[in-house]
Formats: sequence, C-alpha cells, structure tokens
Amino acid sequence: MDWWVSMPKIELHAHLNGSIRDSTLLELARELGDKGLVSFPDVEHVIVKHDRSLSEVFKLFDLIHILTTDHETVTRITKEVIEDFAAENVVYLELRTTPKKNVSKGMNKRSYIEAVLEGLRAVTMVEVDFLSEPSIDSQANGGIYARSDGYASNGTEKKKIFVRLLLSIDRRESTEAAMETVKLALEMRHQGVVGIDLSGNPIIGEWLTFLPALEFAKEQGLLITLHCGEVPNPVEIHAMLHFLPARIGHACCFGEEEWAKLKSLKIPVEICLTSNIRTETISSLDIHHFADLYNSGHPIVLCTDDSGVFSTSVSGEYSLAASAFGKTGAGTII
Ligand code: 5GP
Repeated sequence: MDWWVSMPKIELHAHLNGSIRDSTLLELARELGDKGLVSFPDVEHVIVKHDRSLSEVFKLFDLIHILTTDHETVTRITKEVIEDFAAENVVYLELRTTPKKNVSKGMNKRSYIEAVLEGLRAVTMVEVDFLSEPSIDSQANGGIYARSDGYASNGTEKKKIFVRLLLSIDRRESTEAAMETVKLALEMRHQGVVGIDLSGNPIIGEWLTFLPALEFAKEQGLLITLHCGEVPNPVEIHAMLHFLPARIGHACCFGEEEWAKLKSLKIPVEICLTSNIRTETISSLDIHHFADLYNSGHPIVLCTDDSGVFSTSVSGEYSLAASAFGKTGAGTII
C-alpha cells in the first residue's frame, strides 16, 4: 500500500460532500446535537455504519448536507479534503460539488462555490494551483510545475496539487436550476471551474429535464461528465452515450448493446470499485467491468467517488484493483 501512496496519482471522480473525514462529520454532528438541532446518537449511528445500499447512501447525503451547509463549514471541508488527497500524492484533482442554496444561512449557488474556493486558498500544507494550466513547461506557469513526485519545482520544496472544479447538477433539480448551475460554471471558468457533472439519486429525474442545460454547457466548451448506468435504464444510457459526454462515471448496469456503443465511442469511464461494491451496484469484484474495459484497452480511470462515505482513498483503489485484477488478463495495472 505504501507504494501506491508514494505514486503520483490523479483523481477525477470525487464528490466534495462524500469525501469528508468521518471525524469532521462527527464533530459537526456533535455541535448540532449540542444546539438541539439533531439527535447526536441517531446521527452518529448513520455516520459510522459502513455497509450502505445505494438508497441509504443518498439518505446519508441528505444528512451530510444538513451538517455542512454554511459557508464556514464548506470552506473547512474543502480545505481538509484537498489536504487528504494531497497527503496520498494526488497531483491533479477534479473535485465535484453541487452548488447549493440555503436561505437561512444567506447562501446561494455562487456564494457556495466561493466558499469552496476559499477552502482551496486556505490550504497551507501544500501548494494548491487552481488557476494555471497543468503543464511540464515551467515558463508557462511562472516557473512552477508539478514534478512526478508531486513536489512543486519552484524551489520551495512544498508539495503541489492542481485542483479543478466540476459543478454538479443534482437529478432532483429542474431545468431552470440546472441552467443556473451551468451559467455559474461559465462565470467561474477563470477560477478553476472546468466542467459540469450530472449526479444524484439515479432513480429520480428525467434525462430530458437536464438536456437543455447540458447541451448549452457543451456548446460553451465546458467538459461534461455524467453518472451513467448506476441502475438498469437502457433508454437513458443510450441517450447519455448519444450526447457524447467527455467522460461517464460508473457504467455498472450496461447490456451488450450499451457496451458495444460505449467502446465504439471510446468514452472514458471513471471506475469506482469500492463504491460499486459497497452499494451493491456490482455484486463482486470478479464480475466487475473493470477487467473487460482494461483488457480491451478502453480508457478508464480509477477513482474514489466518496472517499469519506466509503472509507477509501485513491491509493486504496489502485491497491484493490492490483490485487483483484493485476495478475489476470492481457495487462498489468499501472
Ligand atoms: P456534493 O455535491 O454535495 O458535494 O456531494 C454529495 C452529492 O454527490 C450527493 O448528494 C449526490 O448528489 C452526489 N453523489 C455522491 N455519490 C454519488 C454516487 O455514487 N452516485 C450518484 N449518482 N451521485 C452521487
């Protein structure tokens, strides 16, 4: 495992509120418990439970959102999440989060993302770059670039992590709300926002509700990644593939036809092994589609999804893939 930690890695599928440390969640729950706003023992039970079905995961997210929705907390959890990924040598992180409104806290979608950006600026443990182009050309970056060992090479010997943001559209949202998120992403393009994600409970919402906003985002040059095929829904899977997103996440419930289409289109897949097993979207690793996609040379990337909720890490996912698939098939992992 130490070896996987020491390897420079990228993380492209991490939800901010799913990546919170358990210790922070418990601390926040205790504070709200002391104020009589939640029942701490009930909340503690939900947080420390480790095997959750997909629907229980979404109930947990509703609880997490009660614990985290004020600007100060959003800033704190962002800072901690970046520190945790940097500590295991993630050198490029695309962090996704759903911009939220919370009238009682004076929060709107823009101020939520500004609180996230504040969290990026608050990190001191490592150097966080969320503005410049990740490049090996030191001139293009004012003399700073990420070395393969994850350190900045500007002479400071401080570790460096490139962070970019994806703004998520929650499947509970309306067309108008989705469009608001896309417009916000466009306005915040020069502050590290690179794209849009569609996520949230896969049994809620209709593809056509989000399509106008996603099409607009794509026309404007934002990258789009879609949670696709977490539940069996061939009509939606086909529509999503036809949309030609830059990437998709999960792809668990694909049939033969959908695999063929995905492979011919070469759309990269974000693979989240622990998440798929924990939520029982895939019953066991030996039948996971990682092996087939990997062996057929399809572009894939190992990701955590929700490192806090599923108690995992990027290094853990690589280690898991190596032990489950490393000695079989055409290739080895790395
Ligand atoms: P947030 O966007 O609040 O920072 O992160 C938590 C949110 O990400 C959840 O409320 C949910 O909308 C989304 N999310 C996290 N994990 C998953 C997942 O495995 N599948 C889907 N579809 N959405 C997820």
